[in-house]
Order: sequence, then structure tokens, then C-alpha cells
Amino acid sequence: MNKRSVLMGVFAHPDDESFGPGGVLARYAHEGADVHVVIATDGIAGSVADPTAVADHETLAQARSAELANAAVALGVTAIWSLPYRDSGMRNTPANQHPDALVQQPLSQVVDQLLEYMLRLQPDVIITHGPYGGYGHPDHIRVYEATTAAFHRARAEAAQNPATNGWRGPQKLYYTAMDKRWLKFIVRLMPLYGQDPTAIGRNKDINLVEISRWETPVHARIDVGDYLVYKQAASRAHISQYSGGPGFWRILPAPLVKRLRSMDTFSRAFPPPNGQVESDLFAGVT
Ligand SMILES: [Zn+2]
Repeated sequence: MNKRSVLMGVFAHPDDESFGPGGVLARYAHEGADVHVVIATDGIAGSVADPTAVADHETLAQARSAELANAAVALGVTAIWSLPYRDSGMRNTPANQHPDALVQQPLSQVVDQLLEYMLRLQPDVIITHGPYGGYGHPDHIRVYEATTAAFHRARAEAAQNPATNGWRGPQKLYYTAMDKRWLKFIVRLMPLYGQDPTAIGRNKDINLVEISRWETPVHARIDVGDYLVYKQAASRAHISQYSGGPGFWRILPAPLVKRLRSMDTFSRAFPPPNGQVESDLFAGVT
């Protein structure tokens, strides 16, 4: 029996899988790949978009766990797995000091746990956050570090271990990347529309100017236009966190926004990029 293609996504928070590359996860799941998502934290430190929506739950973590399960169904992924950590806050916030916070854990411990998942689930391709974590969130950066280290250890272990049944370790590693050309344009336009690009999002803790300056080269551009409906449903499943998507998109004409949202973009970390832009994360996977 031929082994099915396996895609693994590793993200910091319950919602990153949907708000981020949800289109890609849905696309490969619908095309027949096994798609596994590992989420590193419980999301207990997140703020709540609509308190009435989660008022009946004892804890936010409980609500977010249910939301994540619903999002998984909406995306059509095979399974969602969770590491047992509390989410940290943005840089220099008190939530980072909590002893259970992801950023307080030894990196080697998180790497060991992710390695365990990789050896068991045997992914061919792994996607995760990039070195800047999309917008500088410490949990995203920690997940980038741990996943990158675990990826290379999984390759080394698979090469030595005959018990992996011919699996040679994960073959490709990608980081979610944003096409900065449009973002730079949006950042220039925002003040004309009365919006402050340095303090966006529900918590006003996202600085688009800083984000637009962080280079995230695009080595893969995946068409997810047919799968945005699943991404949208999954995003809505995160009721406590969903606020209708970023307002700055509304500055651009709707057809252009649709075109931009139809492409999920990634930097290729391994194998090293070769100057080409791929249209399939599994290109070249044997
Ligand atoms: Zn996140």
C-alpha cells in the first residue's frame, strides 16, 4: 500500500492554524493528504472578542479547545494535537512570567515533544511560523525555533533508525510568509483612512510598520482560492477570538483583496531555496 502524503502544521495558539494558513491545510486535506496540526498552547491568556459567547465556560482554555475542535472539522484535517503549555503574552507583558507559559519552558523539552510527534506521524512536509513569528509574538518565535530544531533531528533519526519503515524523515520545511509588497503599500495608505498602522488588532498590539519591514521572502505561492470557504468557516469557529478579519484589507478594492487572500505564501527553509517560486508544497517529495 502506498503511504499517503502527510502534511504537519505546528503553530503556537488555537486559531493560528485557521487565521494563518487555513487555506493550505484545507486544500491538502481535501486533496487526500493526511494533515496533522500541533498546537503548542491552550490559549488561556487570550482576550475575548465577545464575552457573552464564552460566559458559560469555566475557563477560556476550555472554550478554545472546543473552538479548535470545530475548526479542525471545518478545515477537514485528520487530527489536532496539543502540547500542554499556557500561552505567553506579547513582548514585555506579565503573562510571559507565568511558570507554565511556553516561553518559560526549556527549548530542548519542546523540541523533544515535537520530535516525538514527527517520528510517530511521519510527515513529509512541515509548515510553521517564521523567525519573526508573523508579528513578533514570543510564542510564535519559540514554536519556530523548536519546530526547526525538531525537523532536523527527525531527519537525522529517520536516517539511522530502520524502524521508521522507509520513512526518510520530513523532506521539506516551510515558514508562513507574508507578501510584503502589498503590506508596504497598505501601511502608506492607512493614515489617509484615519487608521494607525502601528497599533492594529483587537488588542492594538500589532505594529504593521514593523511587520512590513521584516523581510519574509516568498518561495512558495499556493492557490487556495477554492478553499477559502473552509478557512472562513474554521476562522468563525474560533468564536472567542474572531473579529471579522483585519480592517486594513478594506482599504484595497475587493477584487484585489480576493486575489491576495487566494494565495497562501511561504518561505522555504529546507531544502534551501533555489530561486524558483513553487506552487505545490509537495513538489519534489518522493
Ligand atoms: Zn498565535
